[in-house]
Amino acid sequence: MDTKAFYKMSYGLYIVSTSHNGKDYGCIVNTLAQITSTPAQISVAINKENYTSKMIDKNGYITATSLSIDAPMELIGTFGFKSGKDINKFDGLSFVRDQNGIAYVTQHTNAVFNLKVSRTIDVGTHKIYIADVLDAKPLNDDESLTYAYYQTVKKGKTPPKASSYNASSAPDVKESNTESKVRYICKICGYIYTGDPLPEDFICPICGHPASDFERIN
Ligand code: FE
Repeated sequence: MDTKAFYKMSYGLYIVSTSHNGKDYGCIVNTLAQITSTPAQISVAINKENYTSKMIDKNGYITATSLSIDAPMELIGTFGFKSGKDINKFDGLSFVRDQNGIAYVTQHTNAVFNLKVSRTIDVGTHKIYIADVLDAKPLNDDESLTYAYYQTVKKGKTPPKASSYNASSAPDVKESNTESKVRYICKICGYIYTGDPLPEDFICPICGHPASDFERIN
């Protein structure tokens, strides 16, 4: 199989969130799609190991926002590479709560969908949630961020738990060996630190992983 064929598929990027016991959870997916319009139904696949998936199982409601093209890597890093087990991902962000009490980010997002899970399908590493759309509204006229734009323009990486992850989308340390300055790359998210040495207590500003997850690239 030539996995490059999968790169021809087009996706958006979404934050899906839920809440449980007064805490907020959310993650980024590229696997959200409309299934039917009458009634309006949406499907979304989420890795079972993901905390957001476990909390959706408990709550039964999901709020999804579509990311805008101006979404910064820090926002994507927070929801895409960190775990809600360790941090409150909404800390310091602009967010509101919907009618189900679920928080959703209002900055760098352009539409919101309030969803009620009707069915769950186990597909191995992931669960597919089929949901009824209770409400939906555009937040502004900003252009949507596509997965292709994220990868090619923003140089974003794919977290290992994403549906579309494969070894060839992991950080490629050979691609950036042209400058004379010493650089270190985060093996988790691809963030590059320029300078030598990399401080021992350095924390990746995108994914939050420590200096031990960096390797020198030149
Ligand atoms: Fe990182």
